[in-house]
Order: sequence, then C-alpha cells, then structure tokens
Amino acid sequence: MQKIVDFIQSLYNTKEFIPLHEPKFGGNEKKYLNDCIDSTFVSSVGKYVDLFEKNFAKKIGSKYAIATVNGTAALHISLILADVTKNDEVITQPLTFIATCNAISYIGAKAIFVDVDLDTMGLSPRSLQEFLEANCKIENNTCINTQTNKIIKACLPMHTFGHSCQIEEIKKICDKWNISLIEDAAESLGTYYKNKHTGTFGKIGAFSFNGNKIITSGGGGVIVTNDEVLAKRAKHLTTTAKVPHPYEYVHDEIAYNYRMPNLNAALLVAQLEQLDGFIENKRDLAIRYKELFNDYENIDFINEPEHSKSNYWLQAVLLKDLKQRDAFLDFTNKKGIMTRPIWKLMNELDLFKDCFCTSLDNAKYLEQRVINIPSSVRVRK
Ligand SMILES: *Cc1c(COP(=O)(O)O)cnc(C)c1O
Repeated sequence: MQKIVDFIQSLYNTKEFIPLHEPKFGGNEKKYLNDCIDSTFVSSVGKYVDLFEKNFAKKIGSKYAIATVNGTAALHISLILADVTKNDEVITQPLTFIATCNAISYIGAKAIFVDVDLDTMGLSPRSLQEFLEANCKIENNTCINTQTNKIIKACLPMHTFGHSCQIEEIKKICDKWNISLIEDAAESLGTYYKNKHTGTFGKIGAFSFNGNKIITSGGGGVIVTNDEVLAKRAKHLTTTAKVPHPYEYVHDEIAYNYRMPNLNAALLVAQLEQLDGFIENKRDLAIRYKELFNDYENIDFINEPEHSKSNYWLQAVLLKDLKQRDAFLDFTNKKGIMTRPIWKLMNELDLFKDCFCTSLDNAKYLEQRVINIPSSVRVRK
C-alpha cells in the first residue's frame, strides 16, 4: 500500500497532507469579486447573478437557471415546483448525501428507497420499475402507493460522484407512471448521458456549488428547467415571493430567502469559465488512477459507466470487503492522504428508519466497499 501513497504524493507533488477535494481559483475570481465589491451590489441585486444564470443555462443546454443560496435549497424548491406536498411520497436512492433526503423532509413528504445499480451507484431503473409494479396503481392520472394510499409525486435520483445514473430509462418509467422526475445533479456538473447534460432530463434539476464541488461559490446552488412557468415560480419562491414593484413591499405567499448573493455569483461566473479545464484535468487523473489500480487484484478503480461521460468529481475505488476497506482507510489517512468511505445508507439513519425500502443489495454492497480518494484538480508542473 505504500506504493499507492507514493503514487498519490507524486501526483500532487507533495509529501504534506493531501485533501480529498480542494477548490481551485485560477481565473477571474479576484477581478470579478473586486468589481462586485466596488459596485457595492454585493447582495441580492446585481449583474453577476443574472450573468451566472444566463451562462449556466447555456452551458448545460437548459432554458432557465435560477441561482440559490445552496444546493439543498435548490432541491427543496425543486420539490415544491413539482407540487410535492405534506403526506406525498418521493422515490429516491438510499446511497446519497443527506441533503437529498432532508429536502424531502422539509416538505413533510416521505422518502421511499429503491436500490442502486452497481456500475452507476445511482438509482436503478429496474428496482424502480419492480417497486412500482408490485406496490402502485394509477388513478386519476396520479400514482398511488396501494400499501400506504399516498400519492407518489416525484422521483429524485442522484448522479453519484459525477457518474450519470441510467437517467433515460428512469425518465421513461416516471413518464409512464405520471411521476415527476427531479434530478439531484449536485455532483454532476459537466457530466453527460448520451451527450445530453445531466440535470436536464427531468422536469427540474438541482446543482450545488458548495466548497467541495467541482466549481464553487463558497456556498451556492442552482435550479434548472425548460418550463417558463416553473422558472418564474422558482425565482418568486426563492426571493420571498416579493411582487415586483419599484418601492412597495408586497409579498403574495409565504416563501423563502434562498437567493444567491451577488458576491457568490461573481465568484461562480469566474469558476464556470474554468469548468472545461477542471474536467479535462479530472478525466486525466482518472486515467492515471486506473493505471495504478490495474496492478491491484483486490482494488477496482470505478470507471464511468456506459453512456456516461463523467466529470469524475470524486474519484473512487472499490475494495473487496469491509476489512480491506478499513485497512486502506487507516493506512492512507495515517500517511496524510485523505480518503473517505461512501455515505452510510440513508435508511440506516434513525431519521429515515421508518421509510419503505426495496431490497437494497447493491446499495449495501457498495456501502461496505467504496472509498473516495484525492480528487482535486492538479496543478501540472
Ligand atoms: C452537495 C450535495 C447537495 C447539496 O449540498 P449543499 O451543501 O446544500 O449545496 C445535494 N445532494 C448531493 C448528493 C450533494 O452531494
């Protein structure tokens, strides 16, 4: 295992601590930030929010983009836009970051966990279909869970570590069952499924620009959609439902202060300009890791699955079993190389233990074996 440590230290050209993922600010960040500060428009009003929304929508091929204060807020609003209300059910995957499930809980809706695919680590269309066929019926154009008599309003798959799940197949099933598809694309900016950007398959997509994501605004998120009505409503709901007026404060519903400040947007406009370079760098890193782990029978490097052109946001390996996983984690972290196991399954947290689950064999398999390894954009010397 020392060979792996040496290799990673040479990749990053240091013997010091190597984090899992650090941001890179190598473009116009300071220029735009200074411009933003000089303008005094650092908060909710300012040109960088508009510019970012325009640039982002264009970049991923969506009609509209609405910037938010973080990715969780983007998910929360996305669910409201899909008309998910208290007592509804939302199908998602147990192998995800907690934000996905928190957003469902904010509304008072309940998560249903279906299994993931082994190659994509994202929601499995086969598991989804089996669950629906065994438990659901369509009545008055709505999908009813006959076990609970509740409406299944939405399906919320996640593109794990920047690898696309089988989103086209999932969309087909959702369409057939009248379930709104919302994509948690927080990790998959720059990832394409069959040449179409992730986050643009469903009714709505949500992205995150937290400090550890592929590009960052410190904190931030965005909602994308092709539906003009939903886009306008997203803007309204994220800006305290203030009715536009030159000086009057009139609000027409209880809404949220979820807008992205102009300062963060200034940073993000500069980051977005560098996205293609970051992805090229990460895809190159993936090739190097793949070569390294070819020599290890018990360690599989996780490649992009079929049809996915992945951003390789977080690089990952799969170990043979839990014991090996822990030995790898111990060794690398002791040597100052940050590695981290994949998330605990959401259904195993006390918070979600009463949610319905299908058999989760694949999710459990991955939970015990997958580790993230250093994935920052490398400075090439
Ligand atoms: C990062 C992330 C989010 C959003 O996180 P924020 O920190 O609120 O921006 C949501 N879902 C997943 C899967 C994520 O990785």
